[in-house]
Amino acid sequence: MTEENKSNIYVTQPFLPDLKEFIPYLEQIWKNKILTNNGPFHQQLEDELCKYLGVKYISLFSNGTLALITALQALKITGEVITTPFSFVATTHALWWNNIKPVFVDIEPNTFTLDPDKIEAAITPSTTAILPVHVYGNPCYVDEIEKIAKKHSLKVIYDAAHTFGAQLKGHSLCSFGDLSILSFHATKVFNTFEGGAIVCHNQKMKHHIDNLKNFGFRGETVVEEPGINAKMNEVQAAMGLLQLKHVDCVIDRRKWVTTEYRKRLKNIKGITFLEEIKDVNHCYSYFPILVDSHKYGITRDELYQKLMNKNIFSRRYFFPLISQFPSYKHLESAQAENLPIAEKVANEVLCLPIYSEMKVGELERIVEILVK
Ligand SMILES: *Cc1c(COP(=O)(O)O)cnc(C)c1O
Repeated sequence: MTEENKSNIYVTQPFLPDLKEFIPYLEQIWKNKILTNNGPFHQQLEDELCKYLGVKYISLFSNGTLALITALQALKITGEVITTPFSFVATTHALWWNNIKPVFVDIEPNTFTLDPDKIEAAITPSTTAILPVHVYGNPCYVDEIEKIAKKHSLKVIYDAAHTFGAQLKGHSLCSFGDLSILSFHATKVFNTFEGGAIVCHNQKMKHHIDNLKNFGFRGETVVEEPGINAKMNEVQAAMGLLQLKHVDCVIDRRKWVTTEYRKRLKNIKGITFLEEIKDVNHCYSYFPILVDSHKYGITRDELYQKLMNKNIFSRRYFFPLISQFPSYKHLESAQAENLPIAEKVANEVLCLPIYSEMKVGELERIVEILVK
């Protein structure tokens, strides 16, 4: 085995620009001694992200989870919220931190996002909002969800942590719903080491959110409401500005990896994956496959182990379902018979490594194991 054949391949690798490009930003921070609290890089990043994403207002956060928790506060969401069990656990934890009861609704098998046909049956007099997730960057059924929300006077907050720069019919995926939440965690397509944001649609809401992330301060001595500290600092914002210069290239490279996987895996019995979705500009944040053990011969977990034996670390996102975790599994909506599609997908899904600097040789190492 050559060295390259032994080296570890992880499910993802953060994109880092050349360190030399980052130094001037740090020098600027050292010079002006503004480290946080809506500093110049923070303001610039908000402006540039609005332009890049094609949205009107954005408020930066120290991470996506705090953005999600604050978004629920900003809309004063209480009672019950309809959400998906097929996501990263932070989606539901944000509800828990707000004393909100999650109500899990099953996903739809083509996109793995919340099934709009099953939402209405889960609405009760206590329901105040819907919290869908554009999982893997696949757009939710935004039109159907909007119709249901209007009809029942519910708010909609999209967890858009998996999407960056993605578009649906030419509109930013972040332009739907009342608010959208982004994550800029190291493992995401666009990263600021840690970071996040809320996208909103009017200036009043933007001010409200900006106050909430800074203890509720409005001016020097006025504290309007009990806010939290969720501010993005200047080093994070500077990293964001630098990442933004490279992000188109990063997404292009991820597209290349996705296209190669699709080409090379398409004739394997028992392995399926999503093709391009109509009217969508994707950001290629993950490459999930489904393993049908009867047709493929071995189970998803056996394949996961087989890859691991060759130093390839795929991930079973999202297994177990959030509804299976101890904090939530007692809920009526968390029972397996309520969530058959999510249960099936969680048991068959495997996310293969994808990152912008992936080499052909690495891809071939992975594909070779899957083909055998
Ligand atoms: C990453 C992620 C989050 C949390 O974001 P952080 O920035 O890590 O706090 C929330 N929801 C989903 C779906 C995620 O993947």
